[in-house]
Amino acid sequence: MILVVNAGSSSLKIEVFDHDLTSLLTGSVTNIGTDGTIKLGDMRRDVNTADHAQALALMIEALKVAGITIEKLTAAAHRVVHGGTILVEPARITPQVITAIKNVTPLAPLHNPNNLAAMLAFQDMAPDLPQYASFGTAFHATNPDVATRYAIPQTQHDAGIRRYGFHGLSYAHLAESFGTDLPHRLLAFHLGNGASLCAILDGKSIATSMGYSPLSGLTMGTRSGDIDGAAVLRISAALGEAETERMLIQNSGLQALAGDNDMRSLLNRDDDAARFAVDHFCYWAARHAGSAIVAMGGLDAVVFTGGIGENAGPIRDKIMTHLACFGDVPVHVIAADEEKQIARDALALMDAGY
Ligand code: AMP
Repeated sequence: MILVVNAGSSSLKIEVFDHDLTSLLTGSVTNIGTDGTIKLGDMRRDVNTADHAQALALMIEALKVAGITIEKLTAAAHRVVHGGTILVEPARITPQVITAIKNVTPLAPLHNPNNLAAMLAFQDMAPDLPQYASFGTAFHATNPDVATRYAIPQTQHDAGIRRYGFHGLSYAHLAESFGTDLPHRLLAFHLGNGASLCAILDGKSIATSMGYSPLSGLTMGTRSGDIDGAAVLRISAALGEAETERMLIQNSGLQALAGDNDMRSLLNRDDDAARFAVDHFCYWAARHAGSAIVAMGGLDAVVFTGGIGENAGPIRDKIMTHLACFGDVPVHVIAADEEKQIARDALALMDAGY
């Protein structure tokens, strides 16, 4: 059994997989650092955990009660949000990989430290258990330099200011799901509270809408998507850096346009602000899609995933109406499953003897 661990900014999610990638059990600890909840299967209990290490220890205890002891696990596999330019493939966790993840932390200060905390906690609890990591940015490592480079001085580029792209595990899972039927030029939309798209040419990412951070690209639930750097500078001069960051990440997007970041409620509303927010979301998804289609030199199929992509037919239809000028192509819907991709990556490494 493989235990997949996804340590978010204030939560910890786990999923246990069999070696044939059957999901056996899912669980989570939410609101880490304050009054939160632990869930595992049907069990649910209020808990107060100080940090991710404590949340993981609690989860390991709960798994024991559910009959899954550490001894029964063959591996722990972690989602790491950012791999930078070095960690571009799934890896067995070694002291070198831990150092590399630490080095990337300035690029993902809210996430990578929690991913590391979970790995180190496991090392303490079960030093002999092999651990693996899959990186959220790695799928986009195949983007050409012309796509990843910002046209800014070399010193800034060398300091790490470049496009990385995110949602990579979701896109890797989509590409994998097509098996031998993988379209040549596939446009993939991951539309959830965070939203991005990816141009997948012969199974490889060649362009994506997110950049240096997950802020850029499409209009999102609470993130602005693309905004001119000069506008950010002016806002920052007025509000200060911290408030500007909070505004662009937590208080923009659909939330700013219609007072709600939940697409389902926006679709149920019948007012101008909600309609405008929905139109904005679809218009910009399609505008960015045009850019991705040019990068691929055309379009053979479209796939949607994520909470909105999977469930909101009207949003898929609106976006596809914008894209009608590219011809009539097959449209697929595939459920997002980053955890399964992480388990699949770990299994492949184990099979290869790592
Ligand atoms: P995610 O971040 O992938 O969990 O997606 C969350 C988003 O999916 C929210 O905006 C939800 O409102 C949206 N969503 C989930 N189910 C539906 C649905 N049936 N119709 C429209 N939007 C939905």
